[in-house]
Amino acid sequence: RRWFDSVGPAAKDPLQAVTEAFNSDPFPQKINLGLGAYRDEQGKPLVLQCVQQAEEKIRGCNLLDSVSAPVASATLVEECVKLVYGRSVNVVKEKRFAGVPALSGTGACRLFAEFQRNFFPESAIYLPDPTWTNHHNIWANAHVPVRTFHYYHPHLRGLDFAALIDDVKNAPDGSFFLLHPCAHNPTGIDPTEDQWSEISNLFKMKNHFPFFDMAYQGLATGDVDKDASSIRIFLEDGHLIGCAQSFTKTMGLFGHRTGCLSLLCADRDQAVRVKSQLQRIAGAIYGSPPVHGIVLLSTILGDQALKSIWFKEVKAMASRIQSMRAKLRERLELTGSSLNWEHITKQVGMFWFPGLTPEQVDRLAKEFHVYMTPDGRMSMAGVTTSNVRYLANAVHEVTK
Ligand code: PMP
Repeated sequence: RRWFDSVGPAAKDPLQAVTEAFNSDPFPQKINLGLGAYRDEQGKPLVLQCVQQAEEKIRGCNLLDSVSAPVASATLVEECVKLVYGRSVNVVKEKRFAGVPALSGTGACRLFAEFQRNFFPESAIYLPDPTWTNHHNIWANAHVPVRTFHYYHPHLRGLDFAALIDDVKNAPDGSFFLLHPCAHNPTGIDPTEDQWSEISNLFKMKNHFPFFDMAYQGLATGDVDKDASSIRIFLEDGHLIGCAQSFTKTMGLFGHRTGCLSLLCADRDQAVRVKSQLQRIAGAIYGSPPVHGIVLLSTILGDQALKSIWFKEVKAMASRIQSMRAKLRERLELTGSSLNWEHITKQVGMFWFPGLTPEQVDRLAKEFHVYMTPDGRMSMAGVTTSNVRYLANAVHEVTK
């Protein structure tokens, strides 16, 4: 018997299949709405000014220097925590957080999943239905049982709040829940502030643990603070909180894999212990993340001028997406479609989730050269003034 004969091929990543189909399509007006990456009005990837200026600033800085990496890591974590909880709250002053730089959002989630399995071995993770598909793989591969809770209501194309609340009530006390604090992927549907308050209250009663996966801070409303308001409601209600942060989309840092995992603890002593465990777990998987991304991100977040540039740039990205939502809705309404397209402008963030059937998704690709993930999620960041009309007509044709 030869080694590896028993190893079959892994299921193809759905996004990879979409990209391959798109790349091999010769049609000139083809549109790729699969990848959730920001594109500008010309459909081009954007290197942010704040990133370019930070790169300039750190050019020549000695990344091998054994002092600069820990300092940059500490700055990164502290600044990330401020982005989550606000600059003026006491979390940072009281050193009530345990945080480590992570290999982007994915790595932060995996690290937390490992932590959960290590210290709460009987626990499961409750994921929204639907959610970013990799959440399932991440927790399953960390040997944490995965359950789901209701989130999307197909008829409303909105939140199924009543069913969500029922699921939160029916989960055993002390359960772990993963929540998207803003710009839910894939649905673009977020609870309102009142709904977040109700969820937070119920979590308090049930002693559930909220783990927020924040991959789109700023891309929902354009305001980084407003997009964290859900988490701040939980903070005010006195929860301990977990948070994964990614800058892949919000800063266009695709290749850097830069992010943060932080846990809000009861006090400073607890935070010290928890941090040592996060470091131990990371140490046994990959050591520590590459230092260039850490230095880059800490330079942006630790410098008021660069951070302000980022705030403006993330706002500009969000505004372009919002204006494309408005145009797309207007165009669809102009087609004479009898369907209600209001949800396009009600949903927020990078994705439009119209609730298409697999047949409609298939027709969009085969007949209209419009590509998206099989669940019908479309990246609004790929919509531009030049392709919005074509897209609206295509969607109208398959939904008539
Ligand atoms: N969480 C969510 C909800 C996401 O949408 C993504 C990116 N698709 C991630 C985490 C992963 O982020 P990263 O690419 O930074 O690992």
